[in-house]
Formats: sequence, structure tokens, C-alpha cells
Amino acid sequence: MKTMGNRTSEKLPDTLTPLSVPQEQNNIKLPWGRLYSCMEKFKSVDLTLDTITLGRAEQCTIVVNKNNFPESTMLNISKIHFTIIRDEYTDLIYLKDESKNGTFINGALVGRGNRNILQHDDVLSVGFRGSQKLFVFKLLEMDESSKLLPPELRKKYKLSRFLGKGACGEVHLVFEKTTTKAYAMKKIKKGVYSSGNIYHLDHPNKIMNEVKILKSLSHPCVIKMKEIVETDSDVCMILEYMDGGDLTSRILSIRPMTEQNVKCLFYQITLAVQYLHSEGITHRDLKPDNILLANDETETVVKLTDFGLSKFLHEYTVMKTICGTPQYVAPEIIDGSYTEYSYQVDVWSLGVILFYMLSKQLPFRSTERAVLNKLILTGQYTFNPIVWSGVSSDAKDLIKNMLIVDPNERISINEVLAHRWIADDVSMQHRVAQIVQNEGSNSEYYFDDSENLQPPPKKFKLMETTV
Ligand code: AMP
Repeated sequence: MKTMGNRTSEKLPDTLTPLSVPQEQNNIKLPWGRLYSCMEKFKSVDLTLDTITLGRAEQCTIVVNKNNFPESTMLNISKIHFTIIRDEYTDLIYLKDESKNGTFINGALVGRGNRNILQHDDVLSVGFRGSQKLFVFKLLEMDESSKLLPPELRKKYKLSRFLGKGACGEVHLVFEKTTTKAYAMKKIKKGVYSSGNIYHLDHPNKIMNEVKILKSLSHPCVIKMKEIVETDSDVCMILEYMDGGDLTSRILSIRPMTEQNVKCLFYQITLAVQYLHSEGITHRDLKPDNILLANDETETVVKLTDFGLSKFLHEYTVMKTICGTPQYVAPEIIDGSYTEYSYQVDVWSLGVILFYMLSKQLPFRSTERAVLNKLILTGQYTFNPIVWSGVSSDAKDLIKNMLIVDPNERISINEVLAHRWIADDVSMQHRVAQIVQNEGSNSEYYFDDSENLQPPPKKFKLMETTV
């Protein structure tokens, strides 16, 4: 944040409340914004508080009454008409319309209960079609941070705090200006050829088709992509925001996860993968870092992210070379003998994830890549009895069926859902349906929470494998 220069060229009313200087010595907060009055009898107001209300009620910060407002339009003003809020945590300043007859920003109605981010020079008005101008809002600190957004996104979003850094780029919290809705913006740097030229996305038509598919995906356990913008150096995606961090942090946190908790999360992940496969998409990079949680509750909504991304970028981009996480990769990918790998690669990764969730250990681990590859290619892992003694034999059986080296022998995603560890636990399925519905996602289609919920039909015989 940088202090703004003088804006002396503007014609401003002289009814400004005197500023108190020097504020810091007296423990008085410095004003962060100012409402310049557009009405003769109204005073301009310095904004120092984090919540400012305007209305007819005596308790409002700015009280509208017959002494300062035309009587003919007083009836348009509610007891609390609007609130201006400054959220220090997100660095967001917005107006919440609380009125019956409407608050207008630059002539556009906000609407009762709605919120709009306030920007420098916004005109606030009330009355019929906003005919009565009240204030011009001025920020006293210029927000420089949004310059980090590409111009197409800067118009629509306000940049907020840094959320995290992945192998492929940085993620920031952003807010949509017209709604104050939170989103995550993921910025992926494009790779650079050895010649120094920057990779571009594949042929634009092809990309736009892919983007259309990704944007059209709709499942309560799949992160929704709102938009994607390409600049010369980056690809920026606006994604649904998840407040609970990623699955890796949850698994490694000191809070214990019971087998029931694991099942509740894993069931959702499996449904999401089944959905992607039904839409013709293989994730290819399933790992706990790509699974996000809605909140800190033990049982919460989980969503998959980063699916299909590898399709966007050139074959040799950073995505392909750096992002592959060896511990989760299926043997047929390492092997290289399969010219085309199928949906089954995702089932393998899910098997590794389930193993990790239940034991906090990875089934295949070695600091040496060659050794790790060999373990994966031969499917060598063990259930350490000290760690696994408290885990059900059904859970272990499911893992065994998922970690079968031959993809043709490995169970399919539908068979994972039909496995007795999941299919027989109808109460867990009810709980998940409830959690997803409470979260407000579009869940009706995927989760039937009716009393008659039946487990999916068993489509396969469990295999007795020994490892
Ligand atoms: P990634 O590049 O996907 O590995 O993400 C890096 C960090 O950003 C991770 O720590 C995630 O927790 C966070 N992150 C990624 N996507 C989102 C999202 N949609 N909502 C909230 N946080 C996210």
C-alpha cells in the first residue's frame, strides 16, 4: 500500500470534517478513506472506524434526518440504509446494502443483503434510480497490489492475501468486486524454451475447447474453474476458494483422523474421480496436495483441483517435468511401455492416498528415485502391523485391489465405490450427503440423501491378494 498523492485538481466540497493531526501520538487511528459529501447540508466524513453505518436510526455513524436531508426523499432512507466495512484481515473495503429502497454505486443498484467492493471515486446514491447523490468515496491509500493481476482480471477482482505456493505457481485470495465473493487465483508461470522463448498454450482453438470443458464441469467435489486468462508470461485461473487448506496438511496435522473420518473424505474424492472419468478426463496428478478442504471440521467437504491442467500446457512445460509427484505415480507411467495410459492411473494414485490417510506413511518410499521406481513397478509395500493393527481388513483389502501393478487387473473407479468398505457404509454416505448439502454446493444431483438410499450394486468379486 502506498500513500496517494494530492488530488487537488478535483472540485471537492468544503464541508470536510477537520482532520486531527498528529493522530498516532494520541492513539487515534489514521483515516483510511473519506466520504466527500455531494449535498450541501451533509458533512464529508473521514473513515477511521472499520464499520460505518448510514441511516435514520440514532445509533448510525452517519444519521440522516430532516436537518440534513430533503424531506421529500427521507422516506427512501431505511433505519440502517447501508454499512461500509473494512476487513483488515482480507484488506477488503465493501458496502453492504441493508435498505428497502436500495443503495446505488455509480448508478447501479447494489440490492438489499448484497455486498459490493468499494473503489476509489465510487459515487454512492439513494432514492429513485439513485437520483440522490450522497458521497464520493475516496481511498486515502492507493491499492497497488492489484497491479499484480492481469488487466482483464483487475477490472473484476481485488487481490487479497497470499494463500500458498505450489510446484507450478502461486495462489492468491481474490474477491469479485461486484459480489465480494472469495476466489483463489492460481498463476502458473509459462515454461521457457532453451532458446529463451516462452512457451505458449497449444493452439488457441484447441485450448478454448478444453477450457470450455473444464469450465462446464460441475460436481460438488470438483473445484469449479470460473475463468482462465493467458498473458505473455503466465496462465491465471480463477478457482472456487477453499478455506480448509489441503489434505496433506490435514493428514500431517496432530489432530487424529479415525478410519471413519478417512472414509468420509475418501468417499468424496472417489466420487469426484468417477465424475471426471465419466466426463472423459483423467486427473493424472492425484495427490493430497491437489485435494482441498472446505473448512477445519474433521468431516468436511473435499474437492479435487488441478485436473486436466497438463492438457493446457505444452508437452515439455514446467507442469510435466516438475509437477509429477513420484510417490503417487502409477507403474505404467514409470514403465513407459504403455503408449497411452488410461483412467486406471488415477485408481493407483487413490490407493496410495488411502494408504497415506490411514497410516500417515507412504506405501512406496525411498530417497533414491531408481529404488522408488523399482518398488512401484513391482508393487512392493507392506502393512506395518504396528501402524495397521487398528485398521479394518476391508480397508486393507480395498488398498490391495487398487495397488495392483497391472492396470487391467486393477479395480476400476466404479468398483472402488462398490467395494464393501464404502458401499456397505450407508450411514457414512448419508453423512457425506448432509455435509455437502450444508456447504451449499450443487449436490442434489450427486447425493441422494433420501431415507431409501441404497448402496451401489456390487459389480465385482473381491480379490484376495497377498502382499
Ligand atoms: P497448489 O499450487 O495447487 O499446490 O497450491 C498452493 C497452495 O495454495 C496450497 O497450499 C493450497 O492450500 C492453496 N490453494 C490452492 N488452490 C486453492 C483454492 N482453490 N482455495 C484455497 N487455497 C488454495
